[in-house]
Order: sequence, then C-alpha cells, then structure tokens
Amino acid sequence: MSHWLKRRVAGVFGSAEPAIDLYSDTQTKPTAEMRRAIAAAEVGDEQQGTDPTVNRLCARMAELLGHEAGLFLPTGTMCNLVAVATHTTPGESIIADDRSHIVRSETGGAAAVSGVITDLLPGERGQFRADDLRAALAPGHIYRPSPRLVCLEQTHNFGGGAIWPLGRYREAADIAHEHGVLVHTDGARLFNATVATSTEPCVWGEPVDSIWVDFTKGLGAPLGAVLVGSTDFIAQARVYKHRFGGAMRQAGIAAAACLHSLDHHVERLAEDHANASRLAEGLRALGLDISPAETNMVWLDVSPTGLGAAGFLERLAAHGVRMSRVEEDVRAVTHLGVSAQDVEAAISAVGKVLDSCPGGDA
Ligand SMILES: *Cc1c(COP(=O)(O)O)cnc(C)c1O
Repeated sequence: MSHWLKRRVAGVFGSAEPAIDLYSDTQTKPTAEMRRAIAAAEVGDEQQGTDPTVNRLCARMAELLGHEAGLFLPTGTMCNLVAVATHTTPGESIIADDRSHIVRSETGGAAAVSGVITDLLPGERGQFRADDLRAALAPGHIYRPSPRLVCLEQTHNFGGGAIWPLGRYREAADIAHEHGVLVHTDGARLFNATVATSTEPCVWGEPVDSIWVDFTKGLGAPLGAVLVGSTDFIAQARVYKHRFGGAMRQAGIAAAACLHSLDHHVERLAEDHANASRLAEGLRALGLDISPAETNMVWLDVSPTGLGAAGFLERLAAHGVRMSRVEEDVRAVTHLGVSAQDVEAAISAVGKVLDSCPGGDA
C-alpha cells in the first residue's frame, strides 16, 4: 500500500492522524529504507569525537557548504542558540528580519542565553533591504550596543518559504563583513533553496561565517541538524553545546538517518515544490489569495471566509486535511508524506469548506 493510501485508510478508521497532513514538513516519518540505514549504523561516542557516522555526516556537510568543520546537534533551534553564543558577547546586538525564526520561535533564547539585543529589520517575505542593513550597521554613538552578527534565513519560513536571491544574499553578507560584522545563516530548509534554484549548497555557505541545515524538515530524518563554520568556530561551538546540555553518545544512530536523507531525499524536494505550486494554483482557482509558492509552502489568506484561521482549520480537519495556523494566516507545507493525489484531495477539501461558508464568495 502506498504511503499516502495507508494514511488515508487510517483516517477512514478514525485514527487521530489526518488523512492528509500539510501541517509542516516536520511531520515526515522515517521511511523503511531510512530505518534500515539507522539499524545498520556504525556508532562510537560522539562526545569523544569517535562516532564514525557522526564524523562522516559533519565532514560531508562541511564540504557541501564550503566550510572547515561541522557539529552535530539534536535540533535546528540549538544550532541558532549555539551559533549566537559562539559569535557574540553579552551586550552586543544581532540583526535579523522581524519575521525570522530566531526572533519569533525560539523563546527569546538568543537574549536569554547570550545576553544580546536583537535589532529588527523590516522584511519583505523575510528579506530585508540592503539600505536598512547599512543604516543598522552605520557607526552610532559609543553607548549603542555593538552590532556583532547579521542573521539570514534561507528559505524563509514565515516569509512563505521564500528564497533570498543569491545576489541579494551575497550583498547582505558583504555589507556585514565590510562593517566587521559576522553573518550566520539559518538554513533549516537550505536544500529547498538549492533544489529550487539549481545551485550548489556551497554558494550559500561560502559568503557566511556559519550556516546549518535541518534534517527533520523536508529531508525527513527523525532528528538532527548540522552547524558548520571554521575549525575555531566549531571548537568553541562544541563547548557551548556541552554547556547547554552536554554531548551525545552513540549518535551515529541519528546521523545515519541524516546521511540517508542526503543520499535519497534532497533531489526529491523538487516534487514537494511541484506539489506546492499545484496546491497554490488550485487554491487560487477557488478564489483565495495565495502567496507565491517558491518552494514547499503555501500561505492562504482565509479572511474572506469569515471563519478566522482557527475556524477554517477546524472545518478543513473535518474533511481529513490538516494545515497550520500562523497568526491569522493558514500555512500548508508539502513534504515526502504528501503525494500529488493528496494535493488534489486537499484542494477539493478547501473547496468544500468554502462552499460551506456563509459568505460563500471567497
Ligand atoms: C524549524 C526551523 C528552525 C528550528 O529547527 P528545529 O529543528 O525545529 O529546532 C529554525 N529555523 C527555521 C527557519 C525553521 O523552519
């Protein structure tokens, strides 16, 4: 039975699992092949630097991203936390766009743990303007917190899965460096950007001082993220990793899943992108205002339904389709557990919700 059909049957039999889960690309489950790779993993002690599978993963990521070294961490949130701690000193400022994950979804970790101020730049789909960055970096008076780090996000989650164009990305990094400021990229979904733009990962890694990729999003691994940078940066980052909760031991079990995803789940992200485009097109044809689906995300403005985001999601769930809410917007994310047929079914489910609305003219 295909993966999507299995889930649909589960839905029919009243499982708590929705038939079609567009909540997030974090909802992927390890495939049978990935589980085999996990079972076969050669392991050692990550804490002592002797887990061969973790070492292979870190070396491979460093090479892919054009950096010297890598560090395996359980989550992307920890990559951001550790990177900010490593790059900054308390009282300095970091610069990020106002919808970045680091600002909105990490419980204020950078401020709480590293004692930094965050200078927010207005962003358009998560991308700030070069002039705003220059203004934020212009010399201020001596009592201003010193800017130390510029944070970029590729692709941009709350920017609708948007991709920083390479020219603008490099320009932002160059401006920061001209001002003696470091650059960190949250590349949770970097491979969605590389696949969508047919670029090598290193073209996004080389302009910045640190960058990481999440294996639990579209890549479909159960956990894990790798942060890369210079040898010195990673040595210091390892110290913070330990301070924030310690190291791991036979972590090759998890790293094997990440390596498997690098071999088998990167190119296929193009399918997720095609599915997201089709979803956006189908929803637009229903009369909804849909933001451009540049990668694997579709954002719906459901205000014309008069249901509010929560009411909309509730009615949609009754048709076996799950999406998520970000403030008053609704977000749908495609991933390896969502097929082209699922997308057609999701479009028709949204159509049914719209038909059931009092206004009915969405
Ligand atoms: C998911 C995500 C994170 C956090 O990663 P976790 O592995 O969930 O901790 C950070 N940044 C972005 C842009 C994300 O989408």
